This record gives sequence, structure tokens and C-alpha cells, in this order.
Amino acid sequence: MLPFDKNVYGVVFMCQRHQSCAFYCAHSKDSKNNILHHLLIETYCKGDFHEVCRRKGYEEDMGSAPLADLGPNGYSIESHRRVY
Ligand code: SF4
Repeated sequence: MLPFDKNVYGVVFMCQRHQSCAFYCAHSKDSKNNILHHLLIETYCKGDFHEVCRRKGYEEDMGSAPLADLGPNGYSIESHRRVY
């Protein structure tokens, strides 16, 4: 476990969408212990960056939820290319 599961105030801010989020559901219990997935979840889903999550912007702009492959930073988890 990385040492930044809390923000500077010592509070964990879990994104309110995490239970229905395809990215979070697919990668939060990643048995491969992928460091990239872990960093994205810690900084976005459990961290202060959830307010700027690109998945939320995608859903608002496109009218539908993105696939699990779209990370909260707007990059594809598989190809590492900017998707949104
Ligand atoms: S990927 Fe975005 S929408 Fe999904 S739980 Fe994380 S911060 Fe929330």
C-alpha cells in the first residue's frame, strides 16, 4: 500500500460514483497489483482529483458512461493513449 491514502488534512475523499464506476469496479481489486491502476485510484477515486476526473466529463459530454478502459486521467488503461 502506498503512503498517500489520505489528503493533507488526513481525510479520505472517496468519489461518490465509485460503486457504479466501471473503471473503479474493474481495477480497484486488481489481483495483478498494477501500480498505475493503484495510483489512479488513490489520486482520483480516493483523492482530491476526483473532482477533475475525465470519466465524469466524458459522461456529461457524451451522455453515456465510458468503458472501464478509460482512466480518470483521460488515458486508455490498455494503450496509454489519450482518449478523452
Ligand atoms: S474513475 Fe472517476 S468517476 Fe470513477 S470512481 Fe474514480 S474518480 Fe470517481
